[in-house]
Amino acid sequence: MIYDFDDGTSLRYNDVRKFGTIELKKEKDLFSTPPLNQIGPEPMEMDPADFYAGLKKRKNKPIKEVLLDQNFISGIGNIYDCEILYRAKIDPRMNAGLLSKPQAETILKEAREVLKEAIEQGGSTIKSYHPKEGVTGRMQNSLQAYGRQGEPCSRCHAPLRKISLGGRGTVYCPICQHSTRPFVVGVSGPIASGKSSVTSYLKEKGYHILDADHLAHQSYQDPKIQETLRKEFGDEIFRSGRIDRKKLLSLVAENKEKRLLLNRLIHPYVFQKTQEAIDHGKYKKIVVDMPLLIGSPIENECDLIIAVIADQKTREKRLQSRGVDVEKSLALNRDFPLGALKKAAGIILDGSGDLANLRKQLDSCPFL
Ligand SMILES: [Zn+2]
Repeated sequence: MIYDFDDGTSLRYNDVRKFGTIELKKEKDLFSTPPLNQIGPEPMEMDPADFYAGLKKRKNKPIKEVLLDQNFISGIGNIYDCEILYRAKIDPRMNAGLLSKPQAETILKEAREVLKEAIEQGGSTIKSYHPKEGVTGRMQNSLQAYGRQGEPCSRCHAPLRKISLGGRGTVYCPICQHSTRPFVVGVSGPIASGKSSVTSYLKEKGYHILDADHLAHQSYQDPKIQETLRKEFGDEIFRSGRIDRKKLLSLVAENKEKRLLLNRLIHPYVFQKTQEAIDHGKYKKIVVDMPLLIGSPIENECDLIIAVIADQKTREKRLQSRGVDVEKSLALNRDFPLGALKKAAGIILDGSGDLANLRKQLDSCPFL
């Protein structure tokens, strides 16, 4: 059996069986009862003053998430959300309640433009979604942000960055989308690849450096962490009442389980201290020097990730000149997620050469 509706759609008997009882409503009732009566106006119908007032009420929510709130404004999905904020030059993480009136007006204007273009061009067919027959989804060709992570920004040529915000993939330009947050550069790479040369150069350029290794050392002085480590690794890792790091690291170098356990105990401290420094508001430009940045909560805080990679021979030579146990140091780095780092990085530097070579590579990034 097929039910035909006025708008040309139909419902088969099998669909009814699949979905159970279907309550049929008249159009006027449909829009005056939940959930449809709770849906906000579309951008074309939204009054700019109401939009600005609505943003003010949504304090402490990122503008990106507010635009997806269908009870406030309807019709904007994740793809167009990225596009609207890219065109409006607003950082998607900005607190909606702190946006100025002109910024709110720009966002609404761009929302109208983007949706108008999307309708004219038949939407954006991305992977699993297929619009009606005959509609090709040409809008995806004119998207300047969504799906273009790692590509240069069409305005300033900085690499576009993808982060996760409210569980949704978000692509933005870290340079030309206005932000009140600090500009955070994550520097990562396997041991002895040249990370410290990169960070010291960025320090000269005015960046505040947050060093994960330094924070990890600091964590060993935290009484709570000391107690947990004593429980897990025993008294043998203590010397004169303090943690013997060399002993502890040589213990975990040969044992993956213990290595992961140590990471689980130390990393929350390192992440928390890093997050506090980013949120503090004192520093405008920050470098996070963190070997295990990828997959950590700090990855999402970074506007740009620089991967520093060097060949094995160079790394071994450097470790030798530092007078450390080369094999153990390399063993500690065995689980390094190099593939994931390369994928997330906006810039990949070759750290095999000397300092002058690294500086030259960094100088070719005008946005740093
Ligand atoms: Zn840009």
